[in-house]
Amino acid sequence: MKTDLVWSWVCTTKLHVVVAVRVLAYFGWTLCSSAGAAQIVAGDAEKAAFAVRDNMQGLKLLDHIQLLEDKSATLTINDISRLGREGGFAAPASISPNIGYTKSAWWVKLTLVNSAAEPLDVILRQHYPLIDYIDLWQARADGSWRLHRTGDMRPFRERDIEHRDFLFRMTLPPQSSTVHYLRYETEGPTDISLSLYTPIKLIKALSREQLAYGLYYGGFLVLVIYNLFIFIAVRDRVFLYYLLYVVSYGLYMGCHNGLTFQFLWPDYPGWGNQSLVVLLALSLFWALQFSRKILSIGSFSPRLDKIAVALLAVVFVSLCGAMVFPYSFMIVALSIITMLEMPLILAMGVTCLLAGFAPARYFMVAWSALIVGVIVYMLKIFGLLPHTFLTENGFQIGSLIEMVLLSLALGSRVNDLKRQSRTDALTSLANRREFDDILRSEFHRAYRNQQPLSLLMIDIDYFKQFNDRFGHAKGDDVLKMVGGLLGSNVRKPNIPCRFGGEEFAVILPRTRCREAMTLAERLRAQVEQKSGDSEQVTISIGVACAENGVVSSVSQLLDAADRALYYAKEQGRNRVVNIEELEPMFNLARP
Ligand code: GH3
Ligand code: MG
Ligand code: MG
Repeated sequence: MKTDLVWSWVCTTKLHVVVAVRVLAYFGWTLCSSAGAAQIVAGDAEKAAFAVRDNMQGLKLLDHIQLLEDKSATLTINDISRLGREGGFAAPASISPNIGYTKSAWWVKLTLVNSAAEPLDVILRQHYPLIDYIDLWQARADGSWRLHRTGDMRPFRERDIEHRDFLFRMTLPPQSSTVHYLRYETEGPTDISLSLYTPIKLIKALSREQLAYGLYYGGFLVLVIYNLFIFIAVRDRVFLYYLLYVVSYGLYMGCHNGLTFQFLWPDYPGWGNQSLVVLLALSLFWALQFSRKILSIGSFSPRLDKIAVALLAVVFVSLCGAMVFPYSFMIVALSIITMLEMPLILAMGVTCLLAGFAPARYFMVAWSALIVGVIVYMLKIFGLLPHTFLTENGFQIGSLIEMVLLSLALGSRVNDLKRQSRTDALTSLANRREFDDILRSEFHRAYRNQQPLSLLMIDIDYFKQFNDRFGHAKGDDVLKMVGGLLGSNVRKPNIPCRFGGEEFAVILPRTRCREAMTLAERLRAQVEQKSGDSEQVTISIGVACAENGVVSSVSQLLDAADRALYYAKEQGRNRVVNIEELEPMFNLARP
């Protein structure tokens, strides 16, 4: 059980709904840990000695360590070994080895017994990789000490074994009992989590872990690259915000696991420590900005959007602060911001969901995946679920699933963008681009299958005058009214479109002239009827029908409908003219 992880996860951007649970967990654990730290049970040092075996794979040493708090952080190894002999150490009484935030240095005494006749190579592993300074003194037979110094405030290459966690190599002499002292000093939580391996077993464990981490971060990488390509293609900033969020959050998790220090900035321990809060601030920033934009919250709730913008400003200030202020101060500030941001994002999601906004559905499902992961993790912490790979990593798996599902929300946005690019914004009818594509494919289908295809070209009469008299806004209302009438009167597979300006068109697949004329007449009458007497609006319609395979191209059909419309205007407007009235030979096979 790692209190610091619970704590740090409280600070992540991800735990939107469960933040309350985590806050509780945090305080619960802090209490447990501080209680554990305060009540160190005095015990017999020899009882704690640990008999090593030759097949240890991550054997937890909690029951075999003894602790001593060095409040002034000034004790030397000589003081400590004296205190060790005098029984100054005591077993931790806490259920958790995590001490939380303290200014003290913490000393651990560990006695390892090798009763075999052979020397035994073992590796001691400290699991939590964010300890600033961790030093190990190993007693030699001649009474001197062998010292290993490490910690994430020291350059990475100084480690015994270059690994993200702290690994100490040691050889235990045959039939010996060797005392070890570890000293922990750190600005963050002191999470003492030690286990022991034989080298072969460690290789086995690490190769599995490495595969899991590869899959996890590989998932992040795929999301980043995939969304980068989409961003380059569609130039929609939401994709950029999303990938910045994934990058910041992925790096933040990498920081937690000690991987960024190992692989990205091994020679800069100062930045390695500070980067944790900087990346947390960045994750908070891009998570909020991304949520604002994908939910289009500004158009559903301007007030929530204003709050979000204000919080963004606060996060930005804290991001600047994260570059200069110490970790211990920033982590508290950012935790408070996280606790404000989580409910805000949740409220934004719910608002958009209630408004029936499609991407909000994926958005909420995505957060739910994360929440399930966190609940599984919490249940494990409370001992209600067994320790398995899934429960141990529930939170990380949940966060990856969340990222993938958010990607789905973005996918639905690509569909929206595509639809928008083919829809006329004013009337919501298909626009000219869509019209051209549909007419072309319907024409070829009709030609191939020897089916009729009709086309109506519709133009509002004297619309320029109308605009001049009543203004452009009223003109727009008329366009909407005509668009609305077309939309409600024309059923699939027939398609109404805004052709451009005050011109509309209706494509009528498998429709003969007579039916097309009937529909056109109905539309004309409805427009005349619907517009008020004082603001009389009428339309003229040209009808052309391709039958018998005589019309051989789309442009022929379009020209014919246009000519019919022109005649309708000539003859006085507010009427329907069929091309065959003017050109009786239009649909007859020409010799
Ligand atoms: P006719 O009966 O011959 O069609 O005369 P008309 O005035 O309707 O035709 P004309 O092509 O001369 O004028 C079309 C007008 O439509 C000019 C333009 O101001 C107006 N118009 C085009 N698009 C829009 C629009 O989106 N909104 C508004 N309000 N007016 C538009
Ligand atoms: Mg007109
Ligand atoms: Mg016109």
